[in-house]
Amino acid sequence: MASIILRPGRERPLQQRHPWVFSGAIASVRGNPADGDVVEIQASSGEWLARGTWSGASQIRARVFTWNADERLDEPALRRKLQRAIAGRPAEASACRLVYAESDGLPGLIVDRYGPVLVMQLLTVGMAVRVELITKLLAELVQPAAIYERSDADVREKEGLPPAEGLRWGELPAERLTITPYHWHAADRPSKLRFEVDMGGGQKTGFYLDQAMNRQRVAAYCQGAEVLDCFCYTGGFSAYAAEAGASHITALDTSGPALEQAQSHMALNGLTTPFEALNADVFKQLRLYRGEGRQFDLIILDPPKFVHNQGQLDRATRGYKDINLLAMQLLRPGGVLATFSCSGLVSADLFQKVVFGAAVDARRDVQVIERLTQSPDHPLLLSFPEGEYLKGFICRVW
Ligand code: SAH
Repeated sequence: MASIILRPGRERPLQQRHPWVFSGAIASVRGNPADGDVVEIQASSGEWLARGTWSGASQIRARVFTWNADERLDEPALRRKLQRAIAGRPAEASACRLVYAESDGLPGLIVDRYGPVLVMQLLTVGMAVRVELITKLLAELVQPAAIYERSDADVREKEGLPPAEGLRWGELPAERLTITPYHWHAADRPSKLRFEVDMGGGQKTGFYLDQAMNRQRVAAYCQGAEVLDCFCYTGGFSAYAAEAGASHITALDTSGPALEQAQSHMALNGLTTPFEALNADVFKQLRLYRGEGRQFDLIILDPPKFVHNQGQLDRATRGYKDINLLAMQLLRPGGVLATFSCSGLVSADLFQKVVFGAAVDARRDVQVIERLTQSPDHPLLLSFPEGEYLKGFICRVW
């Protein structure tokens, strides 16, 4: 078996169970591993550290699968890891993320449960070459009606992998897939909202499960409120706002199909709140509203990922500041701003500074009343802080 020898002093992250080996940390490679092959990872002293999979095309040359010298990357080990991930989710959750990649010790593997269907993403070559085994084990452990692969994310390019999509197991239900997001906090208002998931045509795996808990949190401020849902996608926040008694909702997105779906989600749930779904660029539309003197009681900002690499950080923070400033200017005194960033490279600390900068320029007093993160089915593994990417604040803006 091939092995990687690290440069002197580069063993520490591995000893702390960080699962990535960057090309710059490698002194030499013994043997000639093919993409996806198992490699032994050793310190410069020769000490065995971990075992992972090789990815020659990526800057992350190896991803650790185990820190236990006795564990192989074989069927029993994969089964154990999948079982552990599944056991960490509420059994009664009919829609939730079952496997969250590195955070569940399975680098590059994402599995979302949407009722009877599993949608999986295999984002690293180590996982991609094991697609059949993973499919078989998921079928055995979860017994879904179907397993659908939706590995078309940009990340695959960095691994030298083509996009892959299609049915891998079972049969897709004939009717449209409808889910009820898991109700994370029993003390919260119970919700029976249902959403249709377009796992083939939608974004990511079809629905943003990471915001499931936050939609319930934001709903708590929506009663009687005039709400503006920016970057609404299929109207997740809007539906919860309507259910919670918002008086009027405007939802903005630049995706026509997403807006249509948002509209039909209102009907699907029998929600009669006045709802305006507008095909508009948020940056422009907020300026337009400001020019018109339009005001709202609650504004949600849930933009797409602005930062994909370090070089985009400055531009992105300006983008975040811009929309947050505009939103603050559109809020009535005492109004609520629910603002998010899903860019992993923007830390919670930096995001807070950006929102602060917006408050300064808007000349408003802004109180953070809740700090939000991704839902509990996207756990943060302490040895892998990169797994925490979503942060948000619910703010009162005076
Ligand atoms: N809030 C949504 C998820 C948002 S995903 C939910 O709860 O499900 C980000 C959305 O922003 C995508 O639907 C994308 O189409 C939209 N988008 C991206 N750039 C935009 C822009 N400049 N103006 C409006 N919408 C935009």
